Amino acid sequence: MSQQGTEASLWAATAAQRFDGLTVSQDIECDVAVIGAGFTGIRTALELASNGVRVAVFDAGGVGWGASGRNGGQVNPMLPVARPNDLLKAVGPIYFERLAATSLGSADALFELIRKYQIKCDARQNGWLRVDHSAKARKTWREAAKAWSAHGMEYEVLDGDDLRKASGSPAYDSGIINPRGGAVQPLSLVCGFAHAARSAGAQIYEKAKIETLERTGDGWTLTCSGHRITSEWVVLATNGYTGRLRPDVQKAIIPINPVQIGSGPLPEDLINEILPAGQTISDTRRVIMYARREPGNQIVYGGCGIKGLNGEIGGFEWLKKDAVRVFPQLRDVKWEYQWGGQIAVTPDHVPTFMEPAPGLISGMGYNGRGVAMSHAMGKVLADRVLGTPATDLPFPVSTRKNVAFKTIQELGTGVVIRMMRLMDALESR
Ligand SMILES: Cc1cc2nc3c(=O)[nH]c(=O)nc-3n(C[C@H](O)[C@H](O)[C@H](O)COP(=O)(O)OP(=O)(O)OC[C@H]3O[C@@H](n4cnc5c(N)ncnc54)[C@H](O)[C@@H]3O)c2cc1C
Repeated sequence: MSQQGTEASLWAATAAQRFDGLTVSQDIECDVAVIGAGFTGIRTALELASNGVRVAVFDAGGVGWGASGRNGGQVNPMLPVARPNDLLKAVGPIYFERLAATSLGSADALFELIRKYQIKCDARQNGWLRVDHSAKARKTWREAAKAWSAHGMEYEVLDGDDLRKASGSPAYDSGIINPRGGAVQPLSLVCGFAHAARSAGAQIYEKAKIETLERTGDGWTLTCSGHRITSEWVVLATNGYTGRLRPDVQKAIIPINPVQIGSGPLPEDLINEILPAGQTISDTRRVIMYARREPGNQIVYGGCGIKGLNGEIGGFEWLKKDAVRVFPQLRDVKWEYQWGGQIAVTPDHVPTFMEPAPGLISGMGYNGRGVAMSHAMGKVLADRVLGTPATDLPFPVSTRKNVAFKTIQELGTGVVIRMMRLMDALESR
């Protein structure tokens, strides 16, 4: 399985719209060059273009080629930080208040934006079911939910048969529903936003890999396909695909590889047993499972894959077995789609906003919660360009270093993921 395989995804087969961008065929001058045409880059461009800024977006693949066109489409309104105190410790009291409000409101904000731009992307806000993989996880996450509720998080507790009925899974005994969560068709969403950004005046270039990035005078010079791009600002929105353009930004994140499988249409009696109220589901394991059902009676099931030596993403056979562990009803299902992508994680599970040089900013590291949070970050990146001081934004300017994180980098994510799967399995017994 190649690393990419976007075309093997259910989203490519069912997208309500795609996007055809421009080709770089001459030198380009703009106010802001955005690198990356996923949710982050496109949202930044949409905000900037709507404010009359000359913005050009460049993507090595195309709109939604990265994680934004491949993800589980779960709109989860929370950072994956267990307790409020963990976030407080990571960012301090001022940013705690801002980030808590931004993340808890991120799903509502995204659904509102989808309505504003009338984007066709099967958007539905009917809740996110989070299930506990062990008694210890139940205790931790119940306490966490209670603590977060003091900051505005809404939730409802579900146990035993009520939970099993809501999930359709015999594998979990307890969980909570967050009613603000929901789902989107992610490829439709990113392409829809790209159309809105183009209508607002953004220039969006595809098959446009930025090869070099250099500070020249008061601005920046980039090279792409033998041409020069000059701009006053550069926004790096490359997330898990961040390469060597800026090693300081690349070092702040670790790329990992979630994978998914998708079924064809399933018989009504079978599909109706699974997530009957249409919520999305994910669990509390370190190597999480997440799933959803589609309007076409299909199931999408996801987990974390492992990257091979040649860059190929594996882990699909493990995922198929795990799907049957959670939903035994899927025992005989033929999985018609399988695909993966690359995301970025950070040591404290907080997204990273950086300003490593004058006029250069980056936003990434959503730790698997990027569908909603990348839109919040895109707005923040645009606000910074539009003149908001860095100290007034919801995300602190990051300059992080972490020894434990370096250990993960040295061990390799494959080894770490196998270790985490083992710990999850031992705890789940
Ligand atoms: C399989 C999978 C499942 C996921 N499920 C969920 C989920 O259910 N819920 C959730 O909240 N999050 C989920 N995520 C995470 C979410 O998709 C990401 O956090 C989010 O899409 C990040 O968006 P982005 O725009 O920052 O990055 P991306 O969408 O990855 O975009 C980065 C872009 O940068 C481009 N790029 C990189 N370098 C260059 C260069 N030099 N020149 C030009 N272009 C370049 C790449 O081509 C890429 O298109 C999932 C991710 C994956 C892969």
